[in-house]
Amino acid sequence: MKNITILGSTGSIGVSTLEIVSAHSDRFRVVAMTAGKNLELFVRQIKQFMPRIAAVASHTDVPRLKEMCSGLDVTILGGVEGLIAAATADETDMVVAAIVGAAGLVPTAAAIRARKDIALANKETLVTAGHLFMDLVEEFGVRLFPVDSEHSAIFQSIEGHRCEDIHKIILTASGGPFLNTPATQLSNVTVRDALNHPNWNMGKKITIDSATMMNKGLEVIEARWLFNTPVEKIGVNIHPQSIIHSMVEYVDGCVIAQLGTPDMKAPIAYALAYPERIATGVKPLDLTILSGLTFFNPDHDKFRCLELAYRAIASGESMPAVMNAANEIAVTEFLEGRIGFTQIAETIERTMDAHTAHKLKSIEEVLKADLWGRESAREICREMVY
Ligand code: NAD
Ligand code: MG
Repeated sequence: MKNITILGSTGSIGVSTLEIVSAHSDRFRVVAMTAGKNLELFVRQIKQFMPRIAAVASHTDVPRLKEMCSGLDVTILGGVEGLIAAATADETDMVVAAIVGAAGLVPTAAAIRARKDIALANKETLVTAGHLFMDLVEEFGVRLFPVDSEHSAIFQSIEGHRCEDIHKIILTASGGPFLNTPATQLSNVTVRDALNHPNWNMGKKITIDSATMMNKGLEVIEARWLFNTPVEKIGVNIHPQSIIHSMVEYVDGCVIAQLGTPDMKAPIAYALAYPERIATGVKPLDLTILSGLTFFNPDHDKFRCLELAYRAIASGESMPAVMNAANEIAVTEFLEGRIGFTQIAETIERTMDAHTAHKLKSIEEVLKADLWGRESAREICREMVY
């Protein structure tokens, strides 16, 4: 039996993880789970999975959650300390890190320090603090399994091969809902248009990141740390059908790819059950559609966020954390109708331009850079005309 903590159980990844757990209750048990704001769903999950610990992000939600869970044998906690307690619960073997944004940083670091293996969905962790996290993983001897579909594909394509034999990692990208929208029309798209992803049903933040292609930029940085590969060897290819989830090209010219119907339950199950493969309920791949697969290079002028991510990782040090923070603020401002779609990239670029990168030696310093990025981006958004 593998004991699991789910950080962010009410999100898209959290819910899919619970589907896998419930289909394999002989293998997995949920010891602790955490949520942000959706208490109704959280309570339904608590009643179904009966974790020992349930933690909410905000202290102010604790009394209401306690009332909603009265009579249940569960310890209700709140705030960052609550998230950390869930991430470090004694009996937990593996932590599924599925909180969105830099808020995932502290509990995930605590889990590694408590020697828990990590199934990592939260890409912002590696984007903001990749070098510190990879050092922690090594220092505490834990295993880090990627959940992001592209990184799971690379992980599966690398198994049994030597990193030094990799010629190139090729991340595939669907191109999002605006792949065929002319650049000149992007400033007029609505929140609804941007949330209408063609292939994946995900949380709002990552869905907007997919529309701007910042998601792919974050994934380039994530891949750089996960696979210890220089960013020059990581390319992006647009593949609108999302059937090939990513590929690795080796020095001998051979390319190994992983294919499947787009459904996050597949990479989640691989991370949970590794090295075994378990049933997921994912629709089998219809090989007759393979003749319709297409690939082309991304338009960097149209999707400026992708370029900004490459610029951030080239600059290194605190720049990716600042870029990520500015992106989180800009996406929230866009979702709340205060800035336009193309102003997301503009906010990030102006925040990065105003920042002088410096070394980050601890998680505390990462959080400081994150805060600086948020405040600067907020200020820039306030001054913007929309
Ligand atoms: P989501 O918005 O659906 O869920 C996020 C979860 O985090 C929820 O449980 C929410 O309550 C919780 N949360 C939000 N803010 C919080 C805070 N400040 N403190 C504590 N908890 C908080 O997001 P998602 O789509 O499930 O994505 C989760 C992470 O996984 C993101 O980093 C995303 O980039 C990554 N990811 C998601 C997918 C996908 O298909 N959804 C694919 C690859 C990677
Ligand atoms: Mg992905």
